[in-house]
Amino acid sequence: MTAATPAPPMIRMAGVDKFFGPLHVLKDVTLEVPKGQVVVVLGPSGSGKSTLCRTINRLEPINSGVIEVDGQPLPAEGKELARLRADVGMVFQSFNLFAHKSIVDNVVLAPVKVRKVPAAQARKDAMELLERVGIANQAEKYPAQLSGGQQQRAAIARALAMRPKVMLFDEPTSALDPEMVQEVLDVMTTLAREGMTMLVVTHEMGFARKAADRVIFMADGEVVEDSTPEDFFSAPKSNRAKDFLGKIL
Ligand code: ADP
Ligand code: MG
Repeated sequence: MTAATPAPPMIRMAGVDKFFGPLHVLKDVTLEVPKGQVVVVLGPSGSGKSTLCRTINRLEPINSGVIEVDGQPLPAEGKELARLRADVGMVFQSFNLFAHKSIVDNVVLAPVKVRKVPAAQARKDAMELLERVGIANQAEKYPAQLSGGQQQRAAIARALAMRPKVMLFDEPTSALDPEMVQEVLDVMTTLAREGMTMLVVTHEMGFARKAADRVIFMADGEVVEDSTPEDFFSAPKSNRAKDFLGKIL
């Protein structure tokens, strides 16, 4: 009898170290995100959460260790890197939309340029994605004409347009007015329910409790805890996590 080869995790980091000059910002980070899981990353400011996200699609090089996406090591550069990077969608705190392009053109751009999708098809796909995030009626407007929540939903649609295998979110609601946070979290929750693999840096504890399969707590560049939301919020093991939760809850 031949045993089935287990599917590789969508993201695998093993023994990853990252320095900025003398500053050791990721310390022997090892973690896996299996396909279909939603992992929320928590931790104080400066603990390395954004750097972690940026190393996963090589916006930042690492000093040692391995990072694989869907079983493939990340190449350092070139066409292969561009292809693997397209598998990893990223949404930032600042929406980073192109100001001089309409919302739909923002979504169309990368599929046409990078994936060589025919323009008409890319536009049709883009309208479907804008429908999914609830802003199809804003398609012809420019980013500045939209609310922050709508802009962030457009940024999510733009990332999804590349048909990524995994989505990284780095504090996607931190720059939003409070009344717009929920509409963005709702889009993310729907994505999670549809089975998207997601790594989400957020301070939204409600989202972490409801949508996360796992919570990773980082402090000082280290993964300090890796547990279920239930365990993390009810019984954090480390003093650093207890201290963190004491400050934010
Ligand atoms: P977090 O997202 O958890 O707030 P970051 O990953 O942004 O943390 O930062 C981790 C540490 O690395 C911080 O000490 C920060 O000042 C430092 N850092 C981040 N980016 C750079 C950079 N480009 N150059 C030098 N230091 C950086
Ligand atoms: Mg950050």
